[in-house]
Amino acid sequence: MDNIELWQSVLAQMQFHISKANFSTWFQNTEIISKNCEKIIISVPNAFSKEWLSNKYNKLILKTLHDIDDSIKELDFVIKPQPLKNNPIKITIENERPEDSQLKFEEFKVNKETNLNPRYLFSNFVVGSFNELAHAAALAVAENPGLTYNPLFVYGGTGLGKTHLIQAIGNKISEESKKKKVKYISSEKFVSSIVSAIRTNSMETFKASLAPIDVLILDDIQFIAGKNKSQEEFFHVFNSLYEKNKQIILSSDRPPNAIAELEERLRSRFEGGMIADVSLPDYETRLVILKTKLQEKNMDLPEDVLDYIATNVKKNIRELEGALNKILIYNKINQGLNLETVKKLLKGFVFSPFDVANYKKIIETVSKFYNLEEKNLFDPTRRKEIVKPRQVAMFLLRRELKYSFPAIARKFGGKDHTTAIYAFKKIQQENEENSKLTEELNLIKQRIYSA
Ligand code: ADP
Ligand code: MG
Repeated sequence: MDNIELWQSVLAQMQFHISKANFSTWFQNTEIISKNCEKIIISVPNAFSKEWLSNKYNKLILKTLHDIDDSIKELDFVIKPQPLKNNPIKITIENERPEDSQLKFEEFKVNKETNLNPRYLFSNFVVGSFNELAHAAALAVAENPGLTYNPLFVYGGTGLGKTHLIQAIGNKISEESKKKKVKYISSEKFVSSIVSAIRTNSMETFKASLAPIDVLILDDIQFIAGKNKSQEEFFHVFNSLYEKNKQIILSSDRPPNAIAELEERLRSRFEGGMIADVSLPDYETRLVILKTKLQEKNMDLPEDVLDYIATNVKKNIRELEGALNKILIYNKINQGLNLETVKKLLKGFVFSPFDVANYKKIIETVSKFYNLEEKNLFDPTRRKEIVKPRQVAMFLLRRELKYSFPAIARKFGGKDHTTAIYAFKKIQQENEENSKLTEELNLIKQRIYSA
């Protein structure tokens, strides 16, 4: 077996162990460049691949090589730079404003039957520890709709891949079985359909139109909170699909138990299946995501630029993609991209350490999270719906901004500072004992830091 064949068979094996997106990011442009006795040397295109492969995949590659040829005992990586592809850009942006082309590329053509966007697939969904559980659950549901987890409830902050993931399930199911009827509906649209069906006295027709569905995907279900008539109708729709083992997939910006004004019976239905969250990707994963997006578009950027984006654009994946697109469009129109230009272009995407959290953001985010008006937080009341959010706000002012207790007390209408100390201790202790609160605090913090 020559080196090429040897490496081909290693690559074939590796594909079983890691996701397609990861595979193509880290193994593209690699080859065996030398083999002497016990040692194999693999060339990789850049320092990132080298670091990643030797830290994460060294053992697996070595074992795979050793299984094929047991004289191989050692592995090393060397960098062999690849020439940049020259301008292999696929999106056409001539005669268009950059924003237009970006939008077009985003929107693709949505399938009229299913409402699914064909761009949202498992194969271009990058998996890391931040979304592993949600991804595994989604895959299980896609393979066995109606029979594994029902409903599947995916939650997490904005721009973290919920829509992508739940649509990937739909795309996979309808691709594998044309007979299965899949329907994706945003909750906003769903609610407005219910409202207009009620108004026009055509609820039965609306329900009949949902009856043949095998897989119902409702995005951003938190939107239904507080809309009582819609919740009631949805409860019946849910039950009739559920009883027939039809798959129901929901997404939300928070877990069911944190959706205020959600009917108890719906909450318990939502909690009856699998609940999985998506959170923020780390640096390595952000880099994989950037490279995956580049590959999808068949484009390339210098490593230092990618490193800069992955290091600095942390808010969410949508922003990461937005930053990348901005650079790509600039690069297409102007020749020659350097790091200084990139820094200028990405000003709006990058946090400065001074503007991450502040008083205003904490108050705004906490009240919004608990569906209160900001001024309610300061109401001198002992009502539970207000007391807890107020204590959370005080806790965060102390924890995140290091406000003194008297300063916190002053902000909250000159209360005695022992009230602030009490609030801080209470939330701190409850945070340790009550996982629901911990989760709420995490979600709130995520929002504060990405606002
Ligand atoms: P959400 O619904 O949580 O607000 P989206 O699913 O709309 O987020 O994701 C925002 C953008 O980021 C989309 O373009 C999506 O393709 C991309 N994206 C999100 N998560 C991933 C991922 N894990 N891998 C690749 N792309 C992702
Ligand atoms: Mg979404």
